[in-house]
Amino acid sequence: MAFLSLQGIGKIYVSEGNVAVGIRGVDLSFERGEFVAITGRSGSGKSTLLNVISGMDTYEEGELFIEGQPTSHYQQSDWELYREKYISFVFQDYNIIDSYTVLENVELALMNIPDRRERRRRALELIERVGLKAHVRHKGSKLSGGQKQRTVIARALAKDSPIILADEPTGNLDAETSREIIALLREVSRDKLLIVVTHNFEQVEEYATRHVRVYDGAIESDHVIAPAPEKVAEPAPEKKQIARRSDTFGNGVLLGKTMFKATPRLSAFLCFLLLVGTVAISLVTSLTGSAWEAFKSPRMFRHVPGRAVVISRDGSPVTTSELNALAGEFGAEKAVRYDYLYDQTYSFWDWDYNIDFTYVFSENGDRTPKIGRAPEGVTEAHLYLPISASSIFGKKEIADPPVFQARLGMGTVTLTVTGITYFYDNTKTAEVRLSDEGFRFLSAYALLASQSFSVRYEINDADGAAFYSDAWELDRVTVDPALPAGTVILPPKTARAAAAVYESSTDPAVVLRDEFVTGGTKYRAGDGQTSWTYRADGFTVGAGAGEGKGSLTVSPDLFLAALDGTQEALYRQASLFFGSDRTAKRAIEGINEKGYLAVSSDTTYTPDPAEMIVSSLLFLLTALLWLFALLFFAFFVSLCCGRSIDAFRGDTSIMRSMGIPVKVIRIGMYVRMLLSLVPAYLLSAVAMFFIFRTPALNHFFRFPRPWQFVMIAIGVLALALLSTRRQIRRLFKTSVKTALRGGDAA
Ligand code: ADP
Ligand code: MG
Repeated sequence: MAFLSLQGIGKIYVSEGNVAVGIRGVDLSFERGEFVAITGRSGSGKSTLLNVISGMDTYEEGELFIEGQPTSHYQQSDWELYREKYISFVFQDYNIIDSYTVLENVELALMNIPDRRERRRRALELIERVGLKAHVRHKGSKLSGGQKQRTVIARALAKDSPIILADEPTGNLDAETSREIIALLREVSRDKLLIVVTHNFEQVEEYATRHVRVYDGAIESDHVIAPAPEKVAEPAPEKKQIARRSDTFGNGVLLGKTMFKATPRLSAFLCFLLLVGTVAISLVTSLTGSAWEAFKSPRMFRHVPGRAVVISRDGSPVTTSELNALAGEFGAEKAVRYDYLYDQTYSFWDWDYNIDFTYVFSENGDRTPKIGRAPEGVTEAHLYLPISASSIFGKKEIADPPVFQARLGMGTVTLTVTGITYFYDNTKTAEVRLSDEGFRFLSAYALLASQSFSVRYEINDADGAAFYSDAWELDRVTVDPALPAGTVILPPKTARAAAAVYESSTDPAVVLRDEFVTGGTKYRAGDGQTSWTYRADGFTVGAGAGEGKGSLTVSPDLFLAALDGTQEALYRQASLFFGSDRTAKRAIEGINEKGYLAVSSDTTYTPDPAEMIVSSLLFLLTALLWLFALLFFAFFVSLCCGRSIDAFRGDTSIMRSMGIPVKVIRIGMYVRMLLSLVPAYLLSAVAMFFIFRTPALNHFFRFPRPWQFVMIAIGVLALALLSTRRQIRRLFKTSVKTALRGGDAA
């Protein structure tokens, strides 16, 4: 039984209606140890013969036996196994992977050795054997033709296959190098079957044991020209000892790593592309992200965890004492009679810095700021701001305490900034954090400033009888937090009237209850107007407008006291605070049973249809924008992935010609893509970090949620893998032979 035998092999090429005979009726048998030289005119079928023997081309007629086994029923994967086990091919045009080093090219054929060090050792040994020791680390593209062919021979040796086929291996080499290569081929194939196609028989004459002439696709002659070699037994046992594996996945990973390393610029480009894509999609998403919120039902109140909003069913205001009673009964942690400020949102616009942000007032003043200190009293504030606002208030410290003009309804309150905390997550709302006291005061102030009230006050004599009274519109009332508690500064006209009373009084000190702030000075000059400072016991606030007559200035406590004294006040709502929304909801049931109407502050309502249509349209628009960006990126990615894989077309066909299974190569390509993805993700996370650390950019883009980033990463991964898959399909549609010739799919 011959080692390799061809019986009546015929190969016909059909292309574009033309039929060309490649080879016909070929009967040949070969044994290990033979050096067969094949000669013949160009086009006579030499290459066809070699391609059929190598399993890179199919045959239509006859039968090829390998170790007695027929092969005509072989499928592609069988041929892969066949090539892997038996065949090494040496081409005229070298066919080494240019981007790999000599070492990598040789190691490619040693993939089945699982141990890295062993693999390397063996590769270096073989490289030394073909005389390329000095070029181990040189890339294929930097080698001369002879050196390339030596690399190919080392690779063939590495595969340790019993058949070496060489198709005009010296066709592109000078005479001297040709001789060396043939000698080397002979030397390394003593125990193998070596078939060399050549147009220059003299070159091989010295070594060949047999000469086959091909003419017009048929065997013209077949001479044994040297003594038949001793029958060579199975390969030497030493080589068999090398541990082998046929681990498709492991080999694929190995291949992928080599691909990744061998083309650093391409890998870097791919990585950069994926990086740009990931960041771009993230930013587009962050621009459009708020569109989702259109579908969230709006809340009726600002949600503060544990907050319950209470009104009484009969429409009367919930008084402070009622509220405190409810708080006691249901275990509320805090009761806020004037909760107006909780539900108000303001915005700030700074022309100089081109910055606008929306803020709310909160009672989080006790939270220690990152810069400065927590607020005390009623006019200090801790600003909790997006980082973009750092251009206004500075980033380092609060040296010269800045002031913040807080708009409140119709009025403005000047707050001294004692602390600042910046945040990067710009989906949060900015807060002007006040002390509890400050919050209550500003809440009341904002409430009054936004409604039409008139304030009445009386100046009483010693017996409590009013000898002067007046009514004011509240937007004319100024609250001066700097005033000592209980202080009123009367407007000039009133002051003069009061002074007149005072002067005509028999016991003026009694009339004004000797509560002169100015310590006996009757008139105090301020802002060019004459005013009288009076320490008041309080004044009443009534609904309805009065006449505007200058300005009345009061201290904050009086303001709150006045508010509490108004049963007629229009403000009915109050808030109770519990530990959590859950405990709040439990308490709410009880409160409702007591004749109040209480709801949790996370209660939502359904927006009206018009609002919904507008937000749906807006959403549609942003979704389209997003989709467009995504498609554009997908197109871009698949284009670049495609290009990058096309660049591997030659390499992969070489791998295939070596018998590396398509499956392994495919896994290798995926691995290579993944290897570019990992740094791309890391870098894009870093890029996003810096983008959102940059105040101006932070202001512009909406802070992405980590899950969004993960989704995008997964999306990009899927996209990259999909386009890799598509390209790989295209790549492997062609046969090895066509691919090697640089042709495209048939
Ligand atoms: P050689 O290697 O001896 O120069 P080949 O084996 O390449 O010859 O070619 C043998 C014959 O088969 C030629 O007539 C050639 O035109 C034809 N042939 C080879 N490959 C193809 C192909 N892929 N498609 C069509 N005809 C082919
Ligand atoms: Mg040829």
